[in-house]
Amino acid sequence: MSICYVNGRYLPLAHASVNVQDRGYQFADGIYEVIAVKNGQLWDEEWHLDRLERSLAEVQIAMPCTRPALKHIIRQVIQQNCNVEGGLYLQVSRGVASRDFAFPKPAPKPSLVVYIMPRRLGQSTKGVRVITIPDMRWKRCDIKSIALLAPVLGKQQAKEAGAFEAWQYVDGIITEGTSSNAWIVKNNTIITHPASPAILNGITRMRLLALAKENGIAIEERPFTVAEAHDADEAFASASTMVVVPIIKIDDAVIGNGNVGALTMRLRGLYEEAFKKLITD
Ligand code: PLP
Repeated sequence: MSICYVNGRYLPLAHASVNVQDRGYQFADGIYEVIAVKNGQLWDEEWHLDRLERSLAEVQIAMPCTRPALKHIIRQVIQQNCNVEGGLYLQVSRGVASRDFAFPKPAPKPSLVVYIMPRRLGQSTKGVRVITIPDMRWKRCDIKSIALLAPVLGKQQAKEAGAFEAWQYVDGIITEGTSSNAWIVKNNTIITHPASPAILNGITRMRLLALAKENGIAIEERPFTVAEAHDADEAFASASTMVVVPIIKIDDAVIGNGNVGALTMRLRGLYEEAFKKLITD
């Protein structure tokens, strides 16, 4: 049975609920994080909590508790779920108040929900197809907001097209996937959109960039076009639970020779190695 932390209580997930006047429910007025968890260990926990604090500060929501208290809750949730492998989901909303757009005064206590979505990490290695779609999101994609209607519609579009993910574009420039960062490889250089308000600066993205640097792999953090993506030697997507997913087709364009890319798999290997070390340390 899955156990969920919700506002001070640990409950079976099916019985965990929030007030209908929670601003997360009514306005999507909240922030979330997903942290990969395996064998009781969290991957890049501090970076995720740094990003959580940053996102909350950008929308002026207070941390629901101190960072040590939050880490204690996270560990309780992991333990109560018997160290299950998956994505630890953490959501903070502005709290419960009567429905008024402006911030309630005095500020309500932020709501906190933590549970685990059980899943195998990094399962997809076969090579997948992505489609490209217009990016319909707001202009602060660097904030990990729970307002996800555009990505929901985009992912559904991908699913109906028989694709794994949709890569979104603005003025012909690929920003990112609906729930992942977008990468191409050209002439042994890995290319990804620079961190900016147009994308979520993925923690997996940052870790991969650090590993690439350490291992002498050439990197270009720059915008790239849909046409460049179609013409890439390799392509892949990254996110915390999917890790590195090789892409072999973008729209109807076959990428490289149609096989999973060598540099893509090297990066995936470096990532897995880094976390194996972390887990056994
Ligand atoms: N970009 C978007 C829009 C996302 O929703 C996500 C993950 O949910 C990512 C990128 C990847 O972020 P991370 O590597 O921190 O999981």
